[in-house]
Amino acid sequence: MTIYFEKWLEKEYTCGECAWHGIARDTGRGRMYREMFLELCCPECSGFLDLIIFPPEKGCGASREELTEEQLKALEEREEQEKVYREKCLCSVDQLPELEGDVLRLVWDQEGAETRIQVGETVIWSEPVKYEAFDRYEQVALLLKEKYGSRVKDLAPTDRSKLFLYGDYAPALDYLKKVRKELFGVESEI
Ligand SMILES: [Zn+2]
Repeated sequence: MTIYFEKWLEKEYTCGECAWHGIARDTGRGRMYREMFLELCCPECSGFLDLIIFPPEKGCGASREELTEEQLKALEEREEQEKVYREKCLCSVDQLPELEGDVLRLVWDQEGAETRIQVGETVIWSEPVKYEAFDRYEQVALLLKEKYGSRVKDLAPTDRSKLFLYGDYAPALDYLKKVRKELFGVESEI
């Protein structure tokens, strides 16, 4: 990781995958996480190069006039990604199917780049994975609760979904435990 500094665009990188060599200005921009971490990748092979950490005032909170052209471009790309992401997300109970049964034990799973909500083997909803998705978990859980009421007894995260669900944000674990308990009455250790 590189902490943001004035001349970060001049920093040199050599790609470990294909030996491309150049400066940050010419790299590809990946996703921006939590409006603070910007991924840089190789313009030749898309290999991961670095993660730039922006102080909060250089993130999305900054007024656009203060941003360099590169930062503005990165911001706009991120906003576009965010828009595309949101359009694929569950936003209404009408998007959920009717389900039979008095006891619904739902599962939050991840398959590749998709988050899947399942009951047994049946996928009832899927949307793009989000890093540190614990806030997303709560939004989806609330919609499931609204749709299926007290028949929903749990929305249990599978082991393989946990890396993206918690990310490296420690309080996420406690937050999720709280949501599960409040919405579904589940006491969990995860
Ligand atoms: Zn490369």
